[in-house]
Amino acid sequence: MGPTENATLTAGGVGVTQPLASTDRRAGETMKHRTRLIVLGRQGAGKGTQCARLAARLSVPHISTGDLFRAEAANGTDLGRQVAAHLDAGSLVPDAVVLDLLAARLGNTAAREAGYLLDGFPRTLAQGQALFEVLGARAADVAVELHVPTSVVLPRLAARRVCQKCGATFSVPEGAAEITRCPRCGGPVTRRSDDTDAAIARRLAAYDHESAPLLVWLDQLGLLVRVEGVGDPDEVHQRLVDTVGTRVPELDADCAPPPS
Ligand code: ADP
Ligand code: ZN
Repeated sequence: MGPTENATLTAGGVGVTQPLASTDRRAGETMKHRTRLIVLGRQGAGKGTQCARLAARLSVPHISTGDLFRAEAANGTDLGRQVAAHLDAGSLVPDAVVLDLLAARLGNTAAREAGYLLDGFPRTLAQGQALFEVLGARAADVAVELHVPTSVVLPRLAARRVCQKCGATFSVPEGAAEITRCPRCGGPVTRRSDDTDAAIARRLAAYDHESAPLLVWLDQLGLLVRVEGVGDPDEVHQRLVDTVGTRVPELDADCAPPPS
């Protein structure tokens, strides 16, 4: 189904304030097309780090629904409290809330024309279909699955610690001394609230059940590429650049140096 005119990206009546078809045509004619990328991957695959580097290299905004929800939860609003309950339980935030959030972020033409790297959205088939219904076939140039098996991500998630002040993440492997103060800024370092054993299990199960049909669908659209996420972060970054570069002309080897 193609985009409907005057649709906005909401769960109820998907819509836009501008007719999207003409938006896309104009973008193609008058300005350089900015990359639109979806990145998927199991929790603990290193998606956050890799997405930040890739987005910087492509000069497009890195939009992480997890980060947006954590910010909302920290606000302490009614919506924030509802979101926090889902985050802490390790369950998915309802589609209606997710789509409202994305509508706020991508609801205007300028935001869409700036391109984007979507990290953590879409995460269900319904979310993927809503995205393409609203933005049309040009909703994504490519969807990358950063693939890391469960046996590798489980110990990573158990070892993950986050600075509450600057957001830096650290790894404390089993048996190693616990980190309580951030070496960078001195802030308190804790586990993420959804990195409890029960929430980790629930999130990984959700990825397997909810994202599998989405991956099949993206593959049928010819958009899916898979990149192995096991290994040194610099090597994984290079693999991503090489693979995505075959689909996205902006990402050629000398388009921009990667941030170190
Ligand atoms: P992870 O995928 O490693 O759990 P994220 O930071 O991507 O971490 O997401 C954290 C939480 O935010 C998820 O467990 C879920 O509750 C919520 N969330 C993020 N993106 C979505 C989405 N697209 N749909 C539903 N819930 C989401
Ligand atoms: Zn810090």
